[in-house]
Amino acid sequence: MPPSLDRLRRDDVRAWLTEQDGAALDGLWRRADEVRRDHVGDEVHLRGLVEVTNHCVRHCVYCGIAACAGPLPRYRMTHDEILACARQGRDFGFGTIVLQGGEDPGLTSAFVAGVVRAIKDETGAAVTLSLGERSAEDLWAWRQAGADRYLLRFETTNPSLYRRIHPNLPGTVSDRLGQLLRMREMGYEIGTGVMVGIPGQTWETLADDIWTFHGYDMDMIGIGPYLPSPRTPLAGPLGTELAAPPSEQVPNDELTTLKAMALTRLVCPNTNIPSTTALSILDPSSGRANGLCRGSNVVMPNLTPPEYRVLYDIYPGKAALHETADTLAVNVIALIDGLGRTVGKGPGGRRS
Ligand code: SAM
Repeated sequence: MPPSLDRLRRDDVRAWLTEQDGAALDGLWRRADEVRRDHVGDEVHLRGLVEVTNHCVRHCVYCGIAACAGPLPRYRMTHDEILACARQGRDFGFGTIVLQGGEDPGLTSAFVAGVVRAIKDETGAAVTLSLGERSAEDLWAWRQAGADRYLLRFETTNPSLYRRIHPNLPGTVSDRLGQLLRMREMGYEIGTGVMVGIPGQTWETLADDIWTFHGYDMDMIGIGPYLPSPRTPLAGPLGTELAAPPSEQVPNDELTTLKAMALTRLVCPNTNIPSTTALSILDPSSGRANGLCRGSNVVMPNLTPPEYRVLYDIYPGKAALHETADTLAVNVIALIDGLGRTVGKGPGGRRS
């Protein structure tokens, strides 16, 4: 018998992650959907994603735009190009614009602050940033310019795995949880998350990750499958070296990702949880809907112009070029409608 779904504790989360019984899992999906409805309602918030740069100084061994990833032409969008995407998002009715990119010192503090100010002035949308590890000065300047939220996945709670997959830059120590807490002090809503099935991630680690979302009361939590990029070290022998023994290694499949999302909804009832792009790439026909029916309440349609999307190549299929901004907006709205849900109005923050 799986543990009761009432008042889950950390060890219950761990037990549910390996539950295989179909009837029991139907109960998990139902409960995650109920908790989602009771705590964040039927609205699905749309956040327009703009991938502003694929330059990156980091050597994350899983990521196709990392400095160490195979050859890739690099781009950095201009102020006007980013603003044009933000206006498109406003015209679709999106309440939030998300600016995401590699960790790129070429995106200066003043440039990002100027873009944030212009988006807020012109569109009134909330602005979420996801630009990697940055100094407290930069983060504060962007917050003062009007940035509302920041996404920074901690990727894993296992410190030795973290150091292997996300090496320090020379002379610095990467401390993503520390940055998240500093940003919360600055008044940002903070978002984090992990990939499911990264080599070396065990069932115990994933349970710890989910329990950490709960412990830090995160405002947004993104969970997607790890999708190997052939241009990265982790897709090669390093992946084999880091992998846990088969009985302990978490698979990077849809079922496990959906379990992690549903359990996260149960332990973080009123947080914002996207149905991630990686999930919809893994299962193009129903991944996004499955996420929305198992705890999630956010979708992030991609507004990046196609010529840049192909270069924001963090994993295969990511560009999804058949989905232009227009078709994606129409398809996502039709999907939400078909599920009997409604498109969220306004910024859709946890506190707004
Ligand atoms: N540079 C910022 C950062 O590191 O937070 C934002 C961009 S980074 C590409 C965004 C997220 O993509 C990462 O936090 C990671 O979880 C996810 N990601 C990177 N490579 C991936 C892969 N191969 N499969 C699935 N997700 C991946």
